[in-house]
Amino acid sequence: MTAVQVPDGAQPDQVRRIRTEIPGPRSMELAQRRGVALPAGLVSSAQVYVQAAGGGVVVDADGNSFIDFGSGIAVTTVGNAAPRVVERVTRQVQAYTHTCFLATPYEPYIAVAEELNAVAPGDHAKRTALFNTGSEAVENAVKYARAFTGRPAVVTFDHAFHGRTLMTMSMTAKNRPYRQAFGPFVPEVYRAPLPYPYRWPSGAAAAADEAFAHLELLVDSQVGAESVACLIIEPIQGEGGFIVPPDGFLRRVSDFCRERGIVFVADEVQTGIGRTGAWFASEHEALVPDLVVTAKGLAGGMPLGAVTGRADIMDAAPPGGIGGTYSGNPAACAAALAVFETIRADGLLERARAIGAGMTTELTAMARDCASIGEVRGRGAMIAVELVHPGTKRPDAAAVAELGRYCQERGLLTLSAGTYGNVLRFLPPLTISDELLAEGLGILRDGFAARSS
Ligand SMILES: *Cc1c(COP(=O)(O)O)cnc(C)c1O
Repeated sequence: MTAVQVPDGAQPDQVRRIRTEIPGPRSMELAQRRGVALPAGLVSSAQVYVQAAGGGVVVDADGNSFIDFGSGIAVTTVGNAAPRVVERVTRQVQAYTHTCFLATPYEPYIAVAEELNAVAPGDHAKRTALFNTGSEAVENAVKYARAFTGRPAVVTFDHAFHGRTLMTMSMTAKNRPYRQAFGPFVPEVYRAPLPYPYRWPSGAAAAADEAFAHLELLVDSQVGAESVACLIIEPIQGEGGFIVPPDGFLRRVSDFCRERGIVFVADEVQTGIGRTGAWFASEHEALVPDLVVTAKGLAGGMPLGAVTGRADIMDAAPPGGIGGTYSGNPAACAAALAVFETIRADGLLERARAIGAGMTTELTAMARDCASIGEVRGRGAMIAVELVHPGTKRPDAAAVAELGRYCQERGLLTLSAGTYGNVLRFLPPLTISDELLAEGLGILRDGFAARSS
């Protein structure tokens, strides 16, 4: 079977189409080559290999077309190979591909910083520094906070994911697969409980107060507030399973930090740049972080991360102390400028809210008929279902794995998440059509129905 060729600049047909076994022969061939050339520990959630993607679909090497409920893990928010991104990046790489901003600077870097400074929460003076990945940006947020405060400690939360570099792995909560075998870890990283309403031992209503009391104990009595450089939290946890803290908790934590001179950092690598129906998830809680970290959705698939925040904090790092050879690469900056343009021109913040409302309604209806669904939660185009053994809250990771396979075989790509691996998360590109969205939800409905019968 010959693979579908997508002509330059064209988006693939916006249809679901399964025409081979999954995975098909071309994907099997690539899996075989991969098995020889790549280390065993690099795993992918899908068994199919991509050939083209755009709008709301991913087309594989055998010409099968899948509905995309993953966006490459919340990255292609404006769509894959989005037309404005392709256009701007093409023009950029024809002009110059790299000079290193630390050597010979260029305008697109400044323009991205101006955009982020303008949309990030708060009307204080802001600065932005660019990096290559989410991990690198988080790591640099810690460097800024330490340089500004002269303090060593970093406070993180249960279920947090902040990356895979040594510093950010130390900040990440989950052992397998992120930490096991890779220690020892960076010192001076402390972890506070995260109010996870569905799983809080004494019930959701008590979660915020009890978690906050633990945070006070940790910071004031155990670490000492005068030793804490920063506290970092995802406004909605991503890898942790789309855990939304109780209303008001984040504000309380940020006030707590302000009173103690602790830099409050929002890790919006997964939630930021439109994903939740606002530029930043912090906005839903009227939160004004001292520093906000972005990456995934920032550049439409090009590698780019950023730290945006208070000018006094960002200006505290010594000259030459922050940077990198590729940080703020011009092609990635061009892509980010196209992302800002696309979100505004195509009304994608509104679109994220509409997608979230539609998905929540549909999934909540499914939850009524399927006892495996413990909870439906999330915000905007960032919605998840937590799967449990019926009649209990016992996590059912096997059900997530089975449903993921079920969906893939029928032409729907999904992702898992959660400390217990029992969360199915949905992060569709905001360019997905209503038809494909409904069709994808239909596959999920059938999958859940098959479990309850
Ligand atoms: C993905 C993610 C990171 C790490 O980003 P990378 O680009 O993979 O290094 C950090 N924080 C959050 C919240 C993330 O979702």
